[in-house]
Amino acid sequence: ERRMSLEGGMRRAIERDEFRILYQPKINSETNQIIALEALIRWEHPELGMLPPAEFIALAEETGLIQPIGEWVMRRVCLDNLQWQEQGLPKVRVAVNLSGFQLQAKNFVETVQEILEETGLAGEYLEFEIGETVIMQNPEFAVSVLTRLRDMGIHISIDDFGTGYSSLAHLKRFSVNTLKIDRTFVRDIELNSTDAAITSAIISMGNSLNLKVIAEGVETEGQCAMLKEKHCDEMQGYLFSRPVPVGEVEGLLRDGLAKRAGQGDEEL
Ligand code: C2E
Ligand code: CA
Ligand code: CA
Repeated sequence: ERRMSLEGGMRRAIERDEFRILYQPKINSETNQIIALEALIRWEHPELGMLPPAEFIALAEETGLIQPIGEWVMRRVCLDNLQWQEQGLPKVRVAVNLSGFQLQAKNFVETVQEILEETGLAGEYLEFEIGETVIMQNPEFAVSVLTRLRDMGIHISIDDFGTGYSSLAHLKRFSVNTLKIDRTFVRDIELNSTDAAITSAIISMGNSLNLKVIAEGVETEGQCAMLKEKHCDEMQGYLFSRPVPVGEVEGLLRDGLAKRAGQGDEEL
């Protein structure tokens, strides 16, 4: 019943303007500067309240609604980013999460091109995060799409890296800029020597392939120190900032990050 009502509601959610974007900073490990913002969708449901993606993205994929929702996200973040740039704030990339369904849509690259032209945002300020397993399901296809996106100046990151089986040969051919170490490795990095070893291996692999490496889910000073010691280029996580509503981004970009650890303001 919940599923049926969610599905019906989702069809109308775009026109009713019920989707929201939270933005979570990615920071340079050395300078602590914000280099990008990851867009994380929420659905402000009229009866059920603020829903996280885990509650509706799978259903959106099954119903095909992920296409219009994904386009809405892209357009929204391009417009937001342009507005920050027009306010004279430091320029950053905005990263959009893509599901496999979106990447495989027939006119995906054209749609992205159109949105960039229509909004006027330069491609270099847009980033896509694509799951490792999504890419590995069809590497040949992924290479061709990612190469076209790269040619538009768009930054490409492999999300949840370490959980799938990317072969080195494929990695070299992908037009990828950044490897994002999955949160599950970062979580126990201090306690579990295997997780620490995997993290080190991903970082040195990234370095030798000329890719940036970012760690997600950094929550503690201990994790942060260990990642710095391993020369992880970038970090993201509650230690630096939770995902924040659009209205708080201006302050973040203007003032930079005073460490915001322990600010349990936004639970979703
Ligand atoms: P993800 O891309 O792996 O995003 C990271 C998730 O970890 C986010 O959950 C984020 O809020 C959360 N997170 C960030 N820092 C920390 C931390 O320090 N500790 C912990 N425990 N968690 C942290 P969220 O926002 O619920 O998103 C879940 C997933 O939904 C994302 O996983 C992404 O795959 C997907 N998603 C989010 N927005 C979109 C979207 O616009 N389109 C698509 N297709 N998928 C999206
Ligand atoms: Ca992501
Ligand atoms: Ca992840």
